[in-house]
Amino acid sequence: MRHTIIIGGGASGMACAVFLARKGHSVTVLERGERLGRKLSATGNGQGNVTNVHMGAEHYFSDDPEKVARALGRFGCEETVRFLESMGGIFLPDARGRVYPAGRQASAVTDLFRRELLRLGVEVRLGAAVTELSHGPNGFSLLAGGERCTADAVVLAAGGMAAPNFGTDGSAYELARGFGHTITPCRPALVQLRCDPSAVRGLKGIRVDAGLRVLRQGKLLFEGRGDVLFTESGLSGDAVFRASSYAQAGDLIEIDLLPDVRAERLKEALGKGTLLCIVNNGLARALEKKAPRGQLASLLKRFPVGVTGTLGYRYAQVTRGGIPLAETDESLMSRLQRGLFFTGEILNTDGECGGYNLQWAFTSAHLAAEGVEQCF
Ligand SMILES: Cc1cc2nc3c(=O)[nH]c(=O)nc-3n(C[C@H](O)[C@H](O)[C@H](O)COP(=O)(O)OP(=O)(O)OC[C@H]3O[C@@H](n4cnc5c(N)ncnc54)[C@H](O)[C@@H]3O)c2cc1C
Repeated sequence: MRHTIIIGGGASGMACAVFLARKGHSVTVLERGERLGRKLSATGNGQGNVTNVHMGAEHYFSDDPEKVARALGRFGCEETVRFLESMGGIFLPDARGRVYPAGRQASAVTDLFRRELLRLGVEVRLGAAVTELSHGPNGFSLLAGGERCTADAVVLAAGGMAAPNFGTDGSAYELARGFGHTITPCRPALVQLRCDPSAVRGLKGIRVDAGLRVLRQGKLLFEGRGDVLFTESGLSGDAVFRASSYAQAGDLIEIDLLPDVRAERLKEALGKGTLLCIVNNGLARALEKKAPRGQLASLLKRFPVGVTGTLGYRYAQVTRGGIPLAETDESLMSRLQRGLFFTGEILNTDGECGGYNLQWAFTSAHLAAEGVEQCF
């Protein structure tokens, strides 16, 4: 029987192994860490936001958005929920369309995968970092944890560079480079922004539902609304993660701290001489130190924060950049090496915050599994 090796036992690697094993394929998962799915277990603040009912290519950044759209058309949110529930569990959307397991525990999603892999008899080798990958007359040859192994097809599901504490330091890009693949320049995405310290001084720990605009030399690059959390070094929260896909050092962020209150109404309320019951008291104290009373209204509607950078890969949820989709076919098989597939974050496709990245992991895993079947 033809044998497939999957490099990386994260979200996309485990999903691909399940898809293949269910079709009767012989599969081995090689995972460098001592446990499967460590990153998956940490997703969604530990609650596991696995997909989103508002699915579409417009939520992704990629070199080939049309390919992403076709891929999501073949395996989108509904298919993901059906797939996950085929292993067990109940998955439900919240009011914003973000889908979570009903038990709200990301590690339980990983456990579902582990259980299914065991049931299907998939071989899993832990502590097996793949350091060499080549192809010869007898198929693929790999060096994993110091041991040589062979395969007829290989799925490179080794993730990107975000959150290296979960085993993803970008070293797997080298395995792809060995076949002539290029790597679209990478940067951390869905990450806290580092900001001008004087702008955020005294605000640490304050969380607001705010409107947020990213401006570069006066040009609007992003506008969104959601959670904004002031941190020691800058800004965090849902809206900031989304903005981090656009913002870079030198940009200006304007925060509307009262997005539901029109400027005229605010001015009228401020005429009573107090910020009480307008904003959180901690925020009020900090704002009063920053601006004279006459400027408070405009400060509340357009609170300016200069961006100095991001907190980097260590704190990022995902990697922007990677292996271009243009270097793969419709099933994400390498155009440079038959039998070599890519899934998940290692590809130059990343999504917004809200379940889009795990959706890509599952979508790409499904495509690659179909491709492996056709390639044999
Ligand atoms: C804190 C956090 C929260 C997140 N929350 C969400 C969320 O709620 N919703 C969402 O959609 N996305 C979320 N993401 C993003 C999402 O987790 C990733 O996009 C997704 O896990 C990528 O799947 P993957 O299979 O490509 O890679 P990973 O899940 O990163 O798995 C890659 C695996 O490959 C292994 N590996 C690497 N190199 C080698 C090698 N050479 N040999 C063998 N094994 C190797 C790694 O150890 C790792 O286990 C979050 C990310 C983080 C860090």
